Amino acid sequence: MNEQQLQDNIAKLLQRLRLEAQKSQRISEDIQLLAVSKSQPVEAVRAAFRCGLRQFGESYLQEALAKIAALRDLPLCWHFIGPIQSNKARAIAENFAWVHSVDRVKIAQRLSRYRPAGMAPLQICLQVNISSEASKSGVLPEALPQLVREVLPLPGLQLRGLMAIPAPSAELAQQRAAFAQVREALQQLRALAPDLDTLSMGMSDDMEAAIAEGATIVRVGSAIFGARKR
Ligand SMILES: *Cc1c(COP(=O)(O)O)cnc(C)c1O
Repeated sequence: MNEQQLQDNIAKLLQRLRLEAQKSQRISEDIQLLAVSKSQPVEAVRAAFRCGLRQFGESYLQEALAKIAALRDLPLCWHFIGPIQSNKARAIAENFAWVHSVDRVKIAQRLSRYRPAGMAPLQICLQVNISSEASKSGVLPEALPQLVREVLPLPGLQLRGLMAIPAPSAELAQQRAAFAQVREALQQLRALAPDLDTLSMGMSDDMEAAIAEGATIVRVGSAIFGARKR
């Protein structure tokens, strides 16, 4: 994809975001665009930076570490959004600002332990599994309060909210119903942690439904960079 196409894609996406914010009577600045750059080359991230994007999401650690190293000259903010094996927790804690996919206390403890003392606390979302057939990742809603209680005291982490990847659906009403469950789960958790402020939900194909239900971070890959090969 050339830079002009990328710029057009980003402009269209921001237009979608603003339009849906307006429809939902929300302030578009309250919705952050996280550009999912997994499987995209370093040059695509540089081009997206030139188009104004600063927040980038990666799912595969080895690929991400190479990109982060190659892009050290740019002021980018990196988010880890993929499944986490415990032997990868250290590298994630050392190289990312955010992790959206925490679903076990063991991973949270390791991320906290390995977060370097000189860095700001790692910003954390707990991944919740709201349509349990769809994915093996994520904590079940009923297990969330216990996980929140265990994560809150960890000194290297700042718990911000929830992330979800609902089962894909072509129906707007179905998409909204799933995202509404995430919003309600966050609302309930505020009884334990009043400062929770983040709903990481919505991708290229269901961003509008997520914004309508309160998303504060939308994670968008293909609508920015084009279809991925994997
Ligand atoms: C790949 C990925 C995305 C982006 O998906 P698109 O459909 O390309 O927008 C968002 N979130 C997660 C966790 C992903 O793995």
